[in-house]
Amino acid sequence: MFGKGLVKGMQITFKEFWSPKATIQYPEHQNPIPDRYHGRFTLDVDKCIACGMCANACPNKVISLQKQKVGTKQYLTNYVMKIYYCLFCGLCVESCPKDALHFSKVINMNQYHFSDIPLVLVQREAPAVTAESEVAASKTSDKEGE
Ligand code: SF4
Ligand code: SF4
Repeated sequence: MFGKGLVKGMQITFKEFWSPKATIQYPEHQNPIPDRYHGRFTLDVDKCIACGMCANACPNKVISLQKQKVGTKQYLTNYVMKIYYCLFCGLCVESCPKDALHFSKVINMNQYHFSDIPLVLVQREAPAVTAESEVAASKTSDKEGE
């Protein structure tokens, strides 16, 4: 019959027109983000021991870090992620022995300038080492060794 295909197509169109919508008006409305979502990285600098295991685990060489020896410990001075190479695979997070690196639920990481895209999680100067702090650090390590 002539026009049979057209009628069939219109039937589907009307059926879908009245069915519940799957799309939402972003950014006014957002779907809930799952707890295990791989969003923007966060780094707990107090937990980080600057071991570099996260950088070694990364297949795309996204992570670069710099450290400085302060007393007996390594002090993280710079931690930058070239996020545009990141696969969000999570190998870096899993490899961290101190549970310092995490994913957050932040999905919006767009920037206007390319130079702003790298994720600078730490950029700071190492504290000056005084003779007193050296002694205190060595006493602490002696106690830990006992
Ligand atoms: S999520 Fe994967 S690709 Fe991204 S920084 Fe971590 S290890 Fe590298
Ligand atoms: S693996 Fe963890 S503790 Fe080691 S440098 Fe990376 S974030 Fe810091």
